[in-house]
Amino acid sequence: MEDNSRGESLCKVCGDKASGKHYGVPSCDGCRGFFKRSIRRNLDYVCKENGRCIVDVSRRNQCQACRFTKCLQVNMKRDGTLRFKGHYVFILLKSRLKSEGRFVGPRFNLGGITSQVIAARALH
Ligand SMILES: [Zn+2]
Ligand SMILES: [Zn+2]
Repeated sequence: MEDNSRGESLCKVCGDKASGKHYGVPSCDGCRGFFKRSIRRNLDYVCKENGRCIVDVSRRNQCQACRFTKCLQVNMKRDGTLRFKGHYVFILLKSRLKSEGRFVGPRFNLGGITSQVIAARALH
């Protein structure tokens, strides 16, 4: 039986025991790490079930797309500085592309952000 009167201590994403507030939302370490990885690497997840997967303790690893959507639904907030960093890398890359007139190698790493994704977008 679950004790719903202590909802504050449960992860809002998967219902596991929360280790505290992360990104402004009570969540477990698993979801916190998952959210962190997702925004840092700018990952694009695709759901095979049209976004209808249930995200709970036992199924949270089955669909990353729905887990990430759930994170956003419960109002987890992206880190503003990460966004800024990404923008910065983008500008840097753009000027590089201009000066060299060609695609810069994918292993161009700044601030822990792999520029490959961003580079692909710049070429779009
Ligand atoms: Zn969780
Ligand atoms: Zn899904």
